[in-house]
Amino acid sequence: MHPPIRIRILASGSQGNAAIVSLRPRDGAPTHLIIDLGLSPRKLCGALEVENIKAHEIAAILVTHADADHVHGGWGRNWPFKSAKVIARNAHHRAIANAGIDAKHMLDAESDSQAFFPHIKPFALPHDKAGSTGFRISTDGVAMGWATDLGRMSSDALAFFAGVDALCIESNYDARMQQHSSRPDFLKDRIMGGHGHLSNVQALQAALHIHKTKALSHVVLLHLSSQCNSPDLVQELWDTHAPELAGDMQVAMQMLPLPWLCVGQPRQCAWSESLFVALR
Ligand SMILES: [Zn+2]
Repeated sequence: MHPPIRIRILASGSQGNAAIVSLRPRDGAPTHLIIDLGLSPRKLCGALEVENIKAHEIAAILVTHADADHVHGGWGRNWPFKSAKVIARNAHHRAIANAGIDAKHMLDAESDSQAFFPHIKPFALPHDKAGSTGFRISTDGVAMGWATDLGRMSSDALAFFAGVDALCIESNYDARMQQHSSRPDFLKDRIMGGHGHLSNVQALQAALHIHKTKALSHVVLLHLSSQCNSPDLVQELWDTHAPELAGDMQVAMQMLPLPWLCVGQPRQCAWSESLFVALR
């Protein structure tokens, strides 16, 4: 049986973020979503082509926030998503428009998008001045959560993501590597001060908390810092402190897409080698 929700993370990190989510509800047509437009039009459209998804089949594009690694500057000149709505909180609309995307495509994630996309719920997360938006996407009894570029997970945020089957969450830095890095103090303060990024330990704690509400089929760790983190360190942390989840945890990479993940089904979906070529 085709899984109701599949996720394919194309790229994750400070050089660009994008993922495809395919929904196939029992009673309804399949729809495709994109989360973040941090890849160039050439790369993202190339990836869609490999996956046999036409640009006009994209129903919605969920934008977490408007930083350049989440909204690439090239989309203003190339807008192939003729039927898609850009779902973002009002607080980000102006910055998205400044990146060149026409405001007529946008819906406010908190109000007007709910009528069209009731299965996509937003949640405001702390990140710099304008914050970021987390999303919970559900259909046919399965749900996934997406939280990246956030300074901390509040108890309200944990409650929002409770019961999801798959959690895609930022695990940006190792606190020790951050503290000992050559970065200036103001930057370290910005990242670690509660309105920047989520550390490995914070991501682990959040995932364990959510796992208690319902067993997670997948945890995907997003947006690892290339300077202050390493996948090996993350794996070690999870093997030690969350052995029950470590086998279902994957680290999303900047240059390497992950296989399709079938939400609620721990076994990985099939994937195509040719995607690597498209993203080069
Ligand atoms: Zn980012």
